[in-house]
Amino acid sequence: MKIINPLALYIHIPFCQRKCLYCDFTSFPGQREQFAAYLRALTQEIEQRLPSGLTITSLYIGGGTPTILPTEALTNLLATVKSKAWVLPEAEVTVEANPSSVTETELALLREAGVNRLSLGAQSGQDRFLQTLGRGHTTRQVETTLAAARNAGFTNINLDLIFGLPGESVDDWRETLQWATALRPEHLSCYGLQVEAGTPLAQRLEAGELNLPGEEETSAMFLLNTEFLPEAGYQQYEISNFARRPTAEGGDYRSRHNLTYWRYADYLGLGLAAYSGMAGRRWVNYADLEQYIDALRCGRLPVAEEEAIPPSTGMAEMIMLGLRLTTGPDPVVFQNRWGVSLEETIGERAVSLVAGGFLVKEAGTYRLTPRGMLVSNLVITELVAPLLR
Ligand code: SF4
Repeated sequence: MKIINPLALYIHIPFCQRKCLYCDFTSFPGQREQFAAYLRALTQEIEQRLPSGLTITSLYIGGGTPTILPTEALTNLLATVKSKAWVLPEAEVTVEANPSSVTETELALLREAGVNRLSLGAQSGQDRFLQTLGRGHTTRQVETTLAAARNAGFTNINLDLIFGLPGESVDDWRETLQWATALRPEHLSCYGLQVEAGTPLAQRLEAGELNLPGEEETSAMFLLNTEFLPEAGYQQYEISNFARRPTAEGGDYRSRHNLTYWRYADYLGLGLAAYSGMAGRRWVNYADLEQYIDALRCGRLPVAEEEAIPPSTGMAEMIMLGLRLTTGPDPVVFQNRWGVSLEETIGERAVSLVAGGFLVKEAGTYRLTPRGMLVSNLVITELVAPLLR
């Protein structure tokens, strides 16, 4: 079989049981009557988009809540992908799920179909915060779903968590971390809450019904991640992501799929509103369900916008994403891709940031210090601004 550049594949399932109060992702509550038409369109996109001989290093089915679909629909999607492309035997195959959306039997079927990583939206270890967020599950349901996933044979499980919630203190967040680590998932994603304009949560905050913790408190929560989690056996490898340390038997639990994004490697996104970045081009699919389905029904690709990425923008993006990793951008990959060294590109502007304790220069690259991570947007902007002019 002819091997085309290996890549990471993302498939978007835009349906959810209900809309969480903070969510502005492309996801629709209910709409069960659209499942069949969407799956037909998505299958067609897979068939049109995947050249035969393509090698897939990771496959991520995200959403939305993919497990809202009948399990057979998910296993059929996997089978369609495998009929077109070569999914490496060691490929990471992730499905996102919400704790109340999947049973042990369904999880066992997914495992049998080749899904080897489960990402659960846990968000908080305290029910009152789950209610504030409008999540449709309790902490107890997270625990039972995780136990069900273990019984079904999953040995690589991620929990998504959010800190900086309305009314949350540093002690509350510590309690969530204690709860989550006691469950021993292999991976934890800990993101600060982003309040998106127009969401019901934003409206409640604007109306003064809820209050966010102050900047000092959210900084303390972030720093707690970098102290508490390593002590509990989780290594930080990206600003917001932590993986259980490998044991003597091996086991690298860093998200291979997400590493593709942070390393600025090629990825293909299929489904509603999915982004792709390949060979210096980027495109995004329609975010409107009807438009997406209609395009594929008429045999057209559902691309809403496409652009060539100018090399200077590509360099800036590779640096921005690479700095999210605790190892920093890879200087050899950077030099090979752009024909110019990382040092020549940002060395001069990095001097004051290194002196200020925001960056460390090491092994031919730069990485953010914990202090730099706290203000990563400012540090990164300072470094790459000339490339984006
Ligand atoms: S489950 Fe996820 S995608 Fe769905 S509404 Fe909630 S936050 Fe949004």
